Amino acid sequence: MITYNVGKAKLQIVRGDITDQETDAIVNAANSTLMGGGGVDGAIHRKGGPKILEECKKIRLTLYPEGLPTGKAVITSGGNMKTKYVIHTVGPIWRGGNSGEAELLSEAYKNSLKLAVSRRLKTISFPSISTGAYGFPIEKASKIALESIKNFLESEDGLELIVCVLFSQSDLETYVKVAKEIFS
Ligand code: ADP
Repeated sequence: MITYNVGKAKLQIVRGDITDQETDAIVNAANSTLMGGGGVDGAIHRKGGPKILEECKKIRLTLYPEGLPTGKAVITSGGNMKTKYVIHTVGPIWRGGNSGEAELLSEAYKNSLKLAVSRRLKTISFPSISTGAYGFPIEKASKIALESIKNFLESEDGLELIVCVLFSQSDLETYVKVAKEIFS
C-alpha cells in the first residue's frame, strides 16, 4: 500500500477487491444499462445482493430511461456490503484513443467524486475503470485516474480518503509507478 497527501485528503493505492472496501462509497465500473455485467459490476451485484439492482431499475425508470451515458454517475445503497453506497459510473470503451476516451474517463472519475461530495461522503474507493472488458490501456488509464483525482482534491474540499483498488499485482505496480511521476 502507498499513501499520498493530496489537498486536504489522503490518496491510497492498494491491491484488493473493491467489494471488500469499507469506505463510505465504492465505485462500480458499470455499463450504461445499469443492469449488471461482468468484472467489477458482476462482483458488486453478487456480493451486494438484489437491493442494488432494484435501485438501479428505479434509476432507469426515472432518471435515465435510455441508460446512463458514458462519464456520468448515479448512486445506490451498498446492499449487503460493508460500504454504505455504490456510485455507478460508465467508463468509455477503448476505440484506439481518438474517440474522446481520455476525456470521458476523466469525467467518470470527476462525476463520481462530485456525487460523493454532494452526499457529504468522506471516503470512497475506485476500481480501475475501463481497463477490463472495456480495453483501456492500464498505463494511460492510471494517469488519467490519478490526475483526475488530484485535480479534484486540489479544487474541492470534503473528501478525506480516496482509495484506488487494483485487482492484479501488475496493475498495482503500474499505478504505483505512475503515481510517483505525478505526486513527487
Ligand atoms: P470495464 O468494463 O470498465 O473495463 P471491468 O470490471 O471489466 O470494467 O474491469 C475493470 C478493472 O477492474 C480490471 O482491471 C479488472 O481486473 C478489475 N476488477 C475485476 N474485478 C474486480 C474486483 N472485484 N475488485 C477490484 N477490481 C476488479
